[in-house]
Amino acid sequence: MSNTLHVDYKLMSYDETVKIVEEAMRAARQEIPKGEVADYIPELGKVDPNQLGICIYPLRGDKICLGDYQTRFTIQSISKIISLCVALELFGAEKLFEKVEAEPSGEAFNSLVELDLNSNKPYNPLINSGALAVAGMLIEEVSFHDMLRFARELCDDDQIVMNRDVYDSEMATCSRNRAIAYLLESKGIIRTDVEDALRFYTKLCSLDVTAESLANFANRLANDGVGNISEKRYLSSKNVRIVKTLMLTCGMYDGSGTYAVEVGIPTKSGVGGGLLAVSDKRAGIGVFGPSLDKKGNSIAGCRLLKEIASRLRLTLFFDTDLLNASRKNYSLNDFPKHHLK
Ligand code: GLN
Repeated sequence: MSNTLHVDYKLMSYDETVKIVEEAMRAARQEIPKGEVADYIPELGKVDPNQLGICIYPLRGDKICLGDYQTRFTIQSISKIISLCVALELFGAEKLFEKVEAEPSGEAFNSLVELDLNSNKPYNPLINSGALAVAGMLIEEVSFHDMLRFARELCDDDQIVMNRDVYDSEMATCSRNRAIAYLLESKGIIRTDVEDALRFYTKLCSLDVTAESLANFANRLANDGVGNISEKRYLSSKNVRIVKTLMLTCGMYDGSGTYAVEVGIPTKSGVGGGLLAVSDKRAGIGVFGPSLDKKGNSIAGCRLLKEIASRLRLTLFFDTDLLNASRKNYSLNDFPKHHLK
């Protein structure tokens, strides 16, 4: 067998691509009963676990949207990406990383052990302690309404609002996040009003989005921070690189390493069932699947991304076998458009 990599640039048709995503949806649905909806936030416990939707928004080519891609659900931890983007733009990387590290924690998203015992800074901005530290910085400069505006703009979705029921439900049960926030204050990381920072963080987690809004946001991250149609720059190239790198190393919490091996697309999860996945220079992907695995990541959503990652050539790294296996039906540089069918 030759070990030379031959890349075939043949385009598959839009219909073929849709067929692959439909097959992946069928495989992913099998995972739903193996997971559970998050119920530590009581309101999330009421969500129907059987929902599944995806929106793939290529940089070039048409959107592919299937299943419950227009259903609203709370963004939860994916809001940490919005906060990180805004914090990087406002303060710059140097100032931000004075407050929070950029290391995977290997602990659950809501852990305070490593913060208490090993470090005087949260491990990264994508776990609760890190996001609360970022919230403490942001509230000195921006209001919740400013953040809502940023969220709507980045996601190209002006229907995004705060889900009041989920917010109230989380605020009534967030002792653990409150403990983290006060621990951050004791370490001098939060210097503003702790309760304000906690409310700000929780409000952002309660924003109602769709898989399609996440795909719009991911598309801009995949395109270096620039709108692929408007050509408007939303975020600096340097900051987008930092965000994507952190998504790859820390976006799936203590499941980040395995996920990187199995899927290989920088992704951020939320306990509302959302996934924001960025296939760099190729496509932005949003997924909604509220049944979660033990680490709080969408169980069917991860399977869905795993299924399409290699077949649509969305992964960061390819091995030769994988390239050969998918040779007939991939597109390297272009996603198919409707008119190519
Ligand atoms: N609001 C949730 C929390 O703070 C977000 C967690 C998540 O999505 N992983 O617990």
